[in-house]
Amino acid sequence: MNADVLVVGAGLAGLHTATRLARRGHDVLLVDRRTRPAGAVRTTGIFVRKTLDDFPLPAEHLGPPIRRVVLHPPRLDRPVVLDSERDEFRVGDMGPLYEAAARDAADAGVRTAFGTRYAGRHDGAALLAGPGGPVRVRARFLVGADGARSRVAADLGLDRNTHLLVGAEEVFPLAGSGGPPTFHCVLDPTLAPGYLAWVVDDGRHAHVGVAGYPDRFPDGLRRALDRFRALAPRVAPGLALPDDVERRGGPIPVGGLLRRISCADGLLVGDAAGAVSPLTAGGLDPCLRLSDHAVDVLDDALRTGRPDALARYDGAALRDRFRGRLALRRGLARVRTPAVATAASTLLRTPPGRAAARRVLFGDRSFPTVAAPSPVDQSTVEPYISPSGSEISSMRAPSGSRK
Ligand SMILES: Cc1cc2nc3c(=O)[nH]c(=O)nc-3n(C[C@H](O)[C@H](O)[C@H](O)COP(=O)(O)OP(=O)(O)OC[C@H]3O[C@@H](n4cnc5c(N)ncnc54)[C@H](O)[C@@H]3O)c2cc1C
Repeated sequence: MNADVLVVGAGLAGLHTATRLARRGHDVLLVDRRTRPAGAVRTTGIFVRKTLDDFPLPAEHLGPPIRRVVLHPPRLDRPVVLDSERDEFRVGDMGPLYEAAARDAADAGVRTAFGTRYAGRHDGAALLAGPGGPVRVRARFLVGADGARSRVAADLGLDRNTHLLVGAEEVFPLAGSGGPPTFHCVLDPTLAPGYLAWVVDDGRHAHVGVAGYPDRFPDGLRRALDRFRALAPRVAPGLALPDDVERRGGPIPVGGLLRRISCADGLLVGDAAGAVSPLTAGGLDPCLRLSDHAVDVLDDALRTGRPDALARYDGAALRDRFRGRLALRRGLARVRTPAVATAASTLLRTPPGRAAARRVLFGDRSFPTVAAPSPVDQSTVEPYISPSGSEISSMRAPSGSRK
């Protein structure tokens, strides 16, 4: 089988990349080992205002707007309530949202294959294992949208995530909870070491979850979630927990955007590229914005036939813009005892503390956007042999800025 681009992984990053590439006229094959787009959802699905402003997400698959965030200390007494004048968050109904995105992909001309696992590369071809048996795919470019533990990254010799949190949550429908839609965050390192426990209640669904460094949960992630579930009605008074819940979970890369995310044969998007805010662990906005950049770069490379366009897809350059958030992540990682968490919560009650929390939660910052690539400078073109050895093409020598 042949394709211009093989995208591995039909999460939001892969679906977005594949659809936009197909809309620009390229032949795209999108594969995922899950048997259907809505299977095994791994995210709470909180979209921030900037994403809702900039990307056309289907409104019918988004919950009611949330304007209130409540920050709770470990003892759950004297929480800090922050209200915004704007709609700050909406929680996606992720199963239907992925299904709608997969339909958009097919409508754009993407060939999709679910239940199909990427199993490696050999002689410049990708090996797929699908329902009909093994298939070899020759694609000009391989895109790794295969999540935090990306196999494509390993096969392309690119950087890989090493700094990971793990998260788990329970989701269930609500018949309205009476109060305003609210995002509760609990700062307690015995429940969520290095991150937060959360209850999101938008009146239609509730999400009860914890995340943290995997080796720091006192009695494991599952037990931490069980303990937090028991506390959830105190965090969000009136919340009734049913027995029948949907369970979600997975790794979250928080080490910042990886430096080396492209080579002559392909590139990484989404979690595979480490495109997650190190502080908030939000990855939905970054995966859409980085995918747009990837599409510009791949489109340029396919149109000009000059794969040096991929050298512009440089994580090292973008990573510099994460310095502040990486420093705050290190700060959050240092909150190791309830006493420190209580002290931090006391600071959050002060006017400067509240202002800082509002900036992080309600601010206008998002994943850095990247200007579309400018035309290739002809004077720097020289012969290039791809790492697979299978192809000789014209490519500018990698710039010195690549690491
Ligand atoms: C519990 C939890 C809650 C979260 N909540 C939020 C939130 O509320 N808001 C937010 O902004 N971010 C959140 N995040 C982070 C966010 O969900 C991710 O950053 C985002 O979904 C990443 O999308 P992706 O497409 O890169 O990866 P994924 O959605 O992980 O998709 C990767 C896909 O690749 C497929 N795949 C992997 N390997 C192979 C293979 N070998 N062959 C074929 N297919 C393969 C997988 O099946 C999967 O479908 C959360 C993360 C977790 C774990």
